[in-house]
Amino acid sequence: MDFGLKGKRAIVMAASRGLGYASALGLAREGCNLVICSRDQARIEAAADTIRQETGATVKALVADVSSGSEARRLVDTAVAEYGGLEIVVHNAGGPPAGETLAMTDEQWQKAFEQNLLSFTRIVQAAAPEMKKAGYGRVITIASSSIKQPIPNLALSNALRAGVWGIAKTLSRELAPQGILVNVIAPGRIDTERIAELDAINAQKNGQALDDVRKASLASIPLGRLGRPEELANLVVFLASQAGSYITGQAITVDGAAGNAL
Ligand code: NAD
Repeated sequence: MDFGLKGKRAIVMAASRGLGYASALGLAREGCNLVICSRDQARIEAAADTIRQETGATVKALVADVSSGSEARRLVDTAVAEYGGLEIVVHNAGGPPAGETLAMTDEQWQKAFEQNLLSFTRIVQAAAPEMKKAGYGRVITIASSSIKQPIPNLALSNALRAGVWGIAKTLSRELAPQGILVNVIAPGRIDTERIAELDAINAQKNGQALDDVRKASLASIPLGRLGRPEELANLVVFLASQAGSYITGQAITVDGAAGNAL
């Protein structure tokens, strides 16, 4: 299937590993020109090199902390300087720290707000005029299945993802007249380092063996396995593509039927 992505210009945030990296690789395979970022120079350069080698795509790597106010503008300016415009943004960031609601400090709330929610409005604010100019716009944010069913011990994530979903729905109606589509991807448990880290935190918190935590996690997924990052990236590609042209304001879970909410 031709997704019509050849030559489209895309920003993928927080892309040195995990779901951001897989999304960047997926878009590169379809012929997109990329700007990718994360906080560590060596890691983001290594990610860009691998994507170039595997796909032959043009990839510009930037060191940027997505929590920081000016970085959204710099990402968009880079896409415009390198490629002359921008059609696609995949908004992504590291997950906030685990913990229960009353254990979270004001500083942790503030940082999570900047990293996971404000980073979203900032990148859309910076990118939307370029998408309008290009006559093609796709905004995809990677959130969490917690938007349908909050996850124990992830208070910050539960609160902020719900906020992102509310903003995405609002934006989908505000930006539709400009031809910009806005959707949320809600991963359940996809096999990345974040999931391994959360399993270790839960094992320690509950005094359980790591292996038992992993087994319980798999038992809660009707498909019987974690998702693979490329299985989420396939949805990114579809939503970014011409094929997704009438889908906007949706939150789509990628969870192997783990969630049981309508
Ligand atoms: P990950 O921790 O494996 O990778 C996160 C990536 O973001 C890394 O490249 C890291 O360098 C980068 N990053 C982190 N903070 C950043 C910042 N402030 N600025 C720039 N780059 C930053 O996580 P993942 O599993 O790929 O998940 C991506 C997002 O999806 C996270 O927000 C995570 O909480 C969420 N999520 C993931 C799953 C899953 O199953 N993997 C499930 C639900 C939600």
